[in-house]
Amino acid sequence: MAEYKLLSNGILLDGARPESQENMDVLIKGKHIEAVGPHGTVKYPETAETVDCNGYVIMPGLIDAHLHLFGRKVMSHTVQICEDPILRGMRSVLDAWRLIDAGYTTVRDCTSGNGIPLRNFIAEGEMTGPRILACGLALSQTGGHGELMHSVPVEFSNRGLTCRLADGVSEVRKAAREQLRAGADFIKIYTSGGVMSEYGSSQECQYSLEEIQACAEEAHNRGVRTAAHAQGRLGIINAAKGGIDSIEHGVYMDDEGLELILKNKCFLVPTISIFNVMKNKGAACGMPDYKIRKAEQLIEVQLKSFRRAYKAGVVCGLGSDFLSDSSMTPMGGNIVEVVDYVERAGLSVGETVVCATGNNAKILGIEEITGTIETGKYADILVVEKEMLTNIRVIADRTRIMKIYKEGEDVPRLNIEKFRRFDCHELFQ
Ligand SMILES: [Zn+2]
Repeated sequence: MAEYKLLSNGILLDGARPESQENMDVLIKGKHIEAVGPHGTVKYPETAETVDCNGYVIMPGLIDAHLHLFGRKVMSHTVQICEDPILRGMRSVLDAWRLIDAGYTTVRDCTSGNGIPLRNFIAEGEMTGPRILACGLALSQTGGHGELMHSVPVEFSNRGLTCRLADGVSEVRKAAREQLRAGADFIKIYTSGGVMSEYGSSQECQYSLEEIQACAEEAHNRGVRTAAHAQGRLGIINAAKGGIDSIEHGVYMDDEGLELILKNKCFLVPTISIFNVMKNKGAACGMPDYKIRKAEQLIEVQLKSFRRAYKAGVVCGLGSDFLSDSSMTPMGGNIVEVVDYVERAGLSVGETVVCATGNNAKILGIEEITGTIETGKYADILVVEKEMLTNIRVIADRTRIMKIYKEGEDVPRLNIEKFRRFDCHELFQ
């Protein structure tokens, strides 16, 4: 691999601001960005490999701040509980390929059981895949959203590897410490009910403020972030009060919740596409009726909350909440979240890219190393046909992404079609 690569004369979307800059050069040296400047002004050695980016956008690699590397094949928690976890782990290796092939150079696994070992496997350097930040298992109260299935014996909850049950301040501390001991990059906690669980509504408040505070304290003592699944009004308020760093979903956000989020500088990862995907594809993919009905109720409320928070100045990221099954929420198809920010939430392409790159890096706490195209950062870069500036769906077409670099390495176009089994345009509805 050439030590120097010059991305020459492209349109730069740097991930820090929504405005693009024409005729820009980006010089990569090894794993890092060496220089950025107007075309012709960046000095480079003769040995540099030059990539003509005329007609292309140069932008940071995408980050998905909220997904689940469950390694599921079908959309069924019952099957998930019964399946061999090693089999699911193996599927998640293919998902890592699908993700980087779609342009994701970093993802945050918000509970799956596979995130930590998959992260470590990719870090060994023998397989290309996105950088992974993983929480281990998210903390859920008994009977809470994290269990997903409530009509099965409670010990099955842990077998599905969707959560770690913990009740009371001392158990919450122990559960958080267990995740940290296992190598978690952040701690996730469920502070409200949700769509995918059998019992309880999205509005249901879960965990007490004291338990949430204990969770945040344990994470912050280790110097890592916290994320709260918070859909209901009180779940959002308690998460923001309790010192949680990022609010995931944030559906029923009222004035009090928004004020607390702004005051405590919480981030928001709204996950706007998942409920719509469930509405459109859930029945065909075997999702029970009650879940689809719950999802439908949230679609418009959530879009409204997101737009309001975004306008109020909350730092918003972008996460798909895709679950990795091959039919409804396949990895790679999570690009629908990027498309929906433009087509359904009404953000500009530039604003969307900032949410998906620079803002997401801040939310994950990795803004010093990636997320924007700036000297000194890792060369996590996409080169995409410039039509993406007027038609965001271009970025969902792998054949229109000329280059994907992760830490300066030119990620080869994987012969992945046989693994793909979906057309992500089906998801744009
Ligand atoms: Zn989730």
